[in-house]
Amino acid sequence: MEKPSIRPTAETRSFWDGCRGGKLRYQTCADCGAVQRIPRSVCTHCHGLRLDWNESAGLGTVLSHTTVHRAPTPAFKTATPYVIALVDLDEGFRLMVNTRGGANPPLAIGQRVRIGFEPRGDDLLPIAEPEMP
Ligand SMILES: [Zn+2]
Repeated sequence: MEKPSIRPTAETRSFWDGCRGGKLRYQTCADCGAVQRIPRSVCTHCHGLRLDWNESAGLGTVLSHTTVHRAPTPAFKTATPYVIALVDLDEGFRLMVNTRGGANPPLAIGQRVRIGFEPRGDDLLPIAEPEMP
């Protein structure tokens, strides 16, 4: 069994296209400038419809993390244990991402991380790794 593949929606397609090129993209509102925490079609601040895509520097801080010991599907059985982190990027948006290196060494809340990419089929998934290894 293979791990699930990326299924972009109309709202997330630019994000995933960016990942495929090794670029982390995020949205800002062209009307009020608000950063959108997740890709969407309407600004959460002013309800504007003009949302621009920007490229992130890929640097952020760990808000929280958890270690997954029980695989959610058989495809993840050989990957456990692994760590999923919530990362607040410096530009003001948030990602939930896997972390490089599995559960060892564990991340710390407040730790600075850099977003890299790892292959999943024909796509690249964002992954957090310590900013200073
Ligand atoms: Zn707005």
